[in-house]
Amino acid sequence: MRVSVIGCGHLGAPHAVAMAELGHEVIGVELDADKCRALSTGAAPFYEAEFPELLAKHVGSGRLRFTTDLARAAEFAELHFLAVGTPLREDGRTYDTRYLTGVLESLVPMLREPCTIVGKSTITIGTVAALQQIIDARAETDGIDLVWNPEFLREGHAIQDSLSPDRIVVGLSSTAAQKAMEEVYAPILARGVEMIVTTPATAEMIKSAANSFLCVKISYINALAEACGLIDADVNAVAHAIGIDERIGHAGMRPGIGYGGGCLPKDIAAFSHRLGQLGAGRAQALLESVQDINSARVAGAVDLIEQAYGGLLAGVPVAFLGASFKAGTSDLRYSPALALADRLTAHGARPVIYDPQAVAGVRQLRPDLICADVVEGALTGAEVVVIATEWPQFTRDAKLPAKAGALARGRVLVDVRNAVEADPWLANGWHVWQLGRPAQH
Ligand code: NAD
Repeated sequence: MRVSVIGCGHLGAPHAVAMAELGHEVIGVELDADKCRALSTGAAPFYEAEFPELLAKHVGSGRLRFTTDLARAAEFAELHFLAVGTPLREDGRTYDTRYLTGVLESLVPMLREPCTIVGKSTITIGTVAALQQIIDARAETDGIDLVWNPEFLREGHAIQDSLSPDRIVVGLSSTAAQKAMEEVYAPILARGVEMIVTTPATAEMIKSAANSFLCVKISYINALAEACGLIDADVNAVAHAIGIDERIGHAGMRPGIGYGGGCLPKDIAAFSHRLGQLGAGRAQALLESVQDINSARVAGAVDLIEQAYGGLLAGVPVAFLGASFKAGTSDLRYSPALALADRLTAHGARPVIYDPQAVAGVRQLRPDLICADVVEGALTGAEVVVIATEWPQFTRDAKLPAKAGALARGRVLVDVRNAVEADPWLANGWHVWQLGRPAQH
């Protein structure tokens, strides 16, 4: 098929690449001229595993092109994916849908042939109906279908999740739209992946419900970590033991400094607010307490670091390993690691940040923070080493404890992602502290 992907950020660019990999002719539309130029030359504008290789492959083959000109997409494609951002408004409770409405207001009058518009951006309940009104008011031709096809990809696994999703959800209201969705995802459906065909309202609910459930799970194990800390129990053992029950599972059950990124924090805030508006007070209260637990994580991590250091942190040099909101991505949006670096700084500590992929981004976004280009730069002279993002370079590199031991002044490791294998650190004389676990010496 001839498809366009409008908005080529963390979701849209990998999706465009995945569509090309499925065999479609793809045009990506990206407003940001620098990003568009980079993508057009096959250069990834952010770190995402497997993305650069497939981008280069399909830009090279000519099956994937990028433009800033929406009119080219309108003329070219029979199916348009919308993947622009839906950030929170300043109220912190509702989505700003101006990028979506802006695209539709420009795109729809340019369309001359029947086609399918497929929204992938995350929206709240009731948005599809409002967007449909824009189409009804501006369409110059019949046969423009609107489908909502929420995206469940995880940053760091965006390509894999786009090519092999767990499920495909489509909210639609015509057989023509269903046929178009079956055609565009045909190679994936042929592998037995389930396509859930439902109404737009149910599709909206599914996406909000899925992301908020992930937050519930993460905050539940984090709240248990707080409780374990009170009785000297080991939350990692609790997570392992309860997760063996398949109704609970192990995924998302690692205690840490809370969920972050460009999706979960905003999606749970918007969903919880919308539930309140709809009169679903109990569901709203549940999600509000989940958000409270998440907000308290960074302060809890500072307490642990103080406890591990054995005193106030004023003037203390800290090797701060990790900045992105999770491993596998350079994305810094709502990063709990950066929030922790800020709070340590507010306590007078002197964090030096190193991240395998996000240092350039930190320098651009937060020139006030001190960064190192190599891990050695952060470790040298540190009294405390903090693992703030669970990159395997920090949690699985058996040589790091000895290297850190040779460069740091102290022997205190605080792992606020509970992801480190402690043994190599202990063998090198380190004291290892994790959230909701007895310290190991
Ligand atoms: P992003 O900010 O990385 O990307 C959005 C892109 O859209 C930007 O590059 C921006 O320049 C571009 N854009 C804005 N207006 C445009 C226009 N008129 N024409 C062309 N391009 C335009 O955001 P993202 O993380 O990719 O998220 C996009 C949407 O997908 C959000 O609704 C988000 O909630 C949802 N989502 C994201 C993920 C994820 O992992 N990032 C996963 C699922 C859903």
